[in-house]
Amino acid sequence: MALEIHQFPARSDNYGVLIHDSESGMTASIDAPEAKAVKSALVEKGWRLTHIFTTHHHHDHTEGNAALKSETGCEIIGPRGDAAKIPTLDRQIGDGDTFRFGNTEVQVLETPGHTLGHISYYIPEAKVAFVGDTMFAMGCGRVFEGSHEMMWHSLSKLRALPADTTIYAGHEYTLANAQFALTIEPDNAALKARTAEVEALRGQGKPTLPTTLAKELATNPFIRAGERDVKAALGMADAADWQVFSEMRTRKDNA
Ligand code: ZN
Ligand code: FE
Repeated sequence: MALEIHQFPARSDNYGVLIHDSESGMTASIDAPEAKAVKSALVEKGWRLTHIFTTHHHHDHTEGNAALKSETGCEIIGPRGDAAKIPTLDRQIGDGDTFRFGNTEVQVLETPGHTLGHISYYIPEAKVAFVGDTMFAMGCGRVFEGSHEMMWHSLSKLRALPADTTIYAGHEYTLANAQFALTIEPDNAALKARTAEVEALRGQGKPTLPTTLAKELATNPFIRAGERDVKAALGMADAADWQVFSEMRTRKDNA
């Protein structure tokens, strides 16, 4: 396996990601936030676009689809559950599906909640997952279409991946997420240390993504909803994990 990954900023706070299999020459764009940024990244790397892997239907993840498809003839793969709202989708996929990208196996995880059809792409050989707007560094996506319980179930699926999985997400929301996380767990030493790191990176205009699942397990309050410390901090010692998650999601929405 020879997978190269290139992340780049797009729009105001999105990230685009290209993955390139050097054996087959295939290149996929994870979402297409805008055609211009994706094309610049392709030129910079000298790669030719063959696929788009869509995570969900939102405009800031699909706006580039039509232009990139007409210019490159790339195949656009995306979630069955959001298919009607995704421009120029060629192939619909869903939970448990696997497909080959060059010589690499890609697994599809349904992670609904932000949208009802949202999926994540997991590549075990490369220990990498592309989670769109389901999970962010120290945060998670807003629950626009599903229920809080559904979103908790989706985050639990991601939490169950190996801890050394590298996580690519759709947005640079890390600083605001860290500030919110500190309101939940002000005494979490890992969170305090990471917040300082993130402030320094953002001060230099550098990305705080990708992250790793290990870092999120230590600092992301949303996936830590089942931890005794988090439950206690919220005065919800006896509540179900998803209810603790729901309380935090509601607080963040109103923050
Ligand atoms: Zn979105
Ligand atoms: Fe988004």
